[in-house]
Amino acid sequence: MSSKIFKAIWTVAVIVFLASLVFLLGVSYNYFTGLQKAQLKSETELAAQGVSLARENYFEDLNTQGYRITWIGADGSVLYDNQVDTSDMENHLEREEVKQALAQGYGESTRYSSTLSDKQLYAAKRLPDGSVLRLSIVQAAVWTLVLGFAQPICIVVLIALVLSFVLASRLAKRIVKPINEIDPQDPEHYYGDKDYKEIEPLLRHISEQQARLKEDKDQIEKTALIRQEFTANVSHELKTPLHAISGCAELLENGMVQEADVKPFAGKIREEASRLTKLVEDIIELTRLDNGGAEMKWEECDILRIVENAADSLDSAADASGVNMTVEGESAPVLAVPQLIYSIAYNLLDNAVKYNLRGGTVSVKVKQNKLDTVLTVEDTGIGIPEECLNRIFERFYRVDKSRSKEVGGTGLGLSIVKHGVLVHNGRIEVTSEVGKGTKFVVTLPNRPKNAVHEEEPEYDII
Ligand code: ADP
Repeated sequence: MSSKIFKAIWTVAVIVFLASLVFLLGVSYNYFTGLQKAQLKSETELAAQGVSLARENYFEDLNTQGYRITWIGADGSVLYDNQVDTSDMENHLEREEVKQALAQGYGESTRYSSTLSDKQLYAAKRLPDGSVLRLSIVQAAVWTLVLGFAQPICIVVLIALVLSFVLASRLAKRIVKPINEIDPQDPEHYYGDKDYKEIEPLLRHISEQQARLKEDKDQIEKTALIRQEFTANVSHELKTPLHAISGCAELLENGMVQEADVKPFAGKIREEASRLTKLVEDIIELTRLDNGGAEMKWEECDILRIVENAADSLDSAADASGVNMTVEGESAPVLAVPQLIYSIAYNLLDNAVKYNLRGGTVSVKVKQNKLDTVLTVEDTGIGIPEECLNRIFERFYRVDKSRSKEVGGTGLGLSIVKHGVLVHNGRIEVTSEVGKGTKFVVTLPNRPKNAVHEEEPEYDII
């Protein structure tokens, strides 16, 4: 970068210098030509006085080195010329300077002489007798001037080149220095520093990008950690029922179970197998939600109907636990993924029954507002300690592990609920009191903005 800047500065300096040099030569050339003309004029006037006094005698022994002197008669015939034989010369009346001198007393012109092949400066003066005296000299060409100045010009060019080289390299280094000093890890450090004023917008951009990258990195790390933990937990959760099943099967196989105990052993195997099935089903559902639920079908559906279906499926379980479940509310048509709404309702109602007490109640309400629909599931069960409330939505988190296992819990139900709610751009709140009961309130927008979405919803995996 520094060498690029250096080249640019140096090139500009050299171009400006050469242009100035050409301009100066032009101006000097004009100035010298002007001087030459003025000098020729006064010399012509002096010579004219001499000729009018001494006539042709004036030309005798006259030293005219560098000059051409021509004396032209009033009729245009050449009376005298110091360089060319007058008998060969044509009539000079038509010469520009002669015409001017005859008309105004004095005339001058510049042209290539037809007699001498050089660019000549002519000055002509009319004498009192009507004849004209003309002096001419060779006009110095530009290159003559350049040659004359060759030495000083070369020295100046050399000095200018060396000077501009040194200055350009210093300037380039000075421009690049503050940029090299920037610590890309800490661009904010240079804000307000006057050396960095011009690049402050770039620094801000870098620091914003860095913050975004850091956020993305944190998010990726967090997600990776959650996935890792999830995989470890899944393996552990799968192992327990599998061990129980293979243990029972082994005892049965070796004939170590008495005839009367075969039934409970088979029952244990069936129970563990169905726990495994539920666990695998929940894992599949969560994985699908993790993938953003893109393939899920959004449909017009009635939340009350779906909640009633879920309650029907849990009727026998509620009866077996001695829990009374009621569903009330009005029809609530919404745009949603019915399968997910069913999962939300089923898991909340299932928990309300599972973590209830004999003789307890589960009261389910559906209420539709203008913009959203509220599903409330309230039970009179064992309740959740306050310090556990913010963790119950985590995967595999259980307040009381043995109780959850006893009632066939997988620890994934509320995680699925939370994901399902987020897919619908809704929210879930929970209040609970140990020994008194728990209340879950789910609020879902009637027309979620992301419905029939293609992109992944923006929410954290818990
Ligand atoms: P699980 O399959 O164990 O029920 P969930 O994710 O559904 O897993 O719930 C997590 C934990 O939250 C449960 O183990 C339980 O301790 C607690 N919990 C959930 N719902 C209720 C409720 N209605 N009453 C009391 N505790 C509850």
